[in-house]
Amino acid sequence: MLYNCHIHTFKGDDIPREFLPLGLVRILATRVGFRIIGRILNYLNPFSSDDLFDRYVRFVKIGRMASQQKIFELCQKFYPKKSKFFILSMDMTYMGAGKVSRPYADQLKELAELKATYPDFVLPFVHVDPRRPGIMELLKQCIEEWGFTGIKIYPSLGYFPYDDDLDPVYQYALDNNLPIIAHASPYNPVHYKGSKRKLKELLKKAKTEIDLSSNKRKRLCSNFAHPDNYKLVFEKFPGLRICLAHFGSHYFWKKFLDEPEIVGNWFTIIRERISEFPNLYADISFTLYNREFFPLLKVLMTDPLLKKRILLGSDYYMVETKSNERRFGLELRALLGEEDFKEISMDNPVAFLGKNET
Ligand SMILES: [Zn+2]
Repeated sequence: MLYNCHIHTFKGDDIPREFLPLGLVRILATRVGFRIIGRILNYLNPFSSDDLFDRYVRFVKIGRMASQQKIFELCQKFYPKKSKFFILSMDMTYMGAGKVSRPYADQLKELAELKATYPDFVLPFVHVDPRRPGIMELLKQCIEEWGFTGIKIYPSLGYFPYDDDLDPVYQYALDNNLPIIAHASPYNPVHYKGSKRKLKELLKKAKTEIDLSSNKRKRLCSNFAHPDNYKLVFEKFPGLRICLAHFGSHYFWKKFLDEPEIVGNWFTIIRERISEFPNLYADISFTLYNREFFPLLKVLMTDPLLKKRILLGSDYYMVETKSNERRFGLELRALLGEEDFKEISMDNPVAFLGKNET
């Protein structure tokens, strides 16, 4: 048994139309479109499975599955029996990427049914976008009626984690002892896609100095997700338990290895903040799919403070699945050894959840 603290099961219907470039969401949504693209891919590149286009197709392939249950069960089979999964829902309605075909509440309702089917193994997190009207009611329904486990935020979609609109959410988290997972990797393709003008409006809500040196959208959006934004959150709500998903991302892990001189490395910042804030965690999802970083993780686990704050996560099904979830878990476990692996996959998740027992 273990905890995988970061997976997704949302469906293709939960993705906005312009989420992928070239109209791919719409084309791949149809059976014919999917078959044609699949064939073109085979024709173009029969030996490689590395290109971005191919990754999109694999991503959509899982998203097209009939239900969140099917997507979940595909993941579950790669893990030891009785493993538990934090399932992070996604509200992509306000990211300026067009219409999402099914209402967000329906995604959550379906997740609630999955929770009812696997009450011990499915630990759902409700994504809270402060721009959604009535979000507090929806949050309360998820927690109180459907037994959800925690809250997810995804600032790159166009809001700051210290936004005043999130205050009632944080207060509710404190009152109900709920953990919060915050997406915190820079420059990833999932970010605000609306007009630059609107993006600049959103950035005006910044309460600290932000980086406007590049006009690139993904650079601008990384301001929302910056780990130092949480200083303000902790100032106001010091008791919150927050996990910064992806631990600064593979981008900054690589920079740490190859260009240690650069300042403002998010990986380094998060390490420092973890020693400052007693309830700050980081998960290794997506980032550690790159085996190149295993030795660095192993070394991090020698730090007595840090080793208590790292959570196992895979980011299923967002990762390029060169190897499957089983191989990822096994290789990580073999490298870390039983003691460290138990720390990130059992002891730390239980502490993060705020439970007393293991
Ligand atoms: Zn994720």
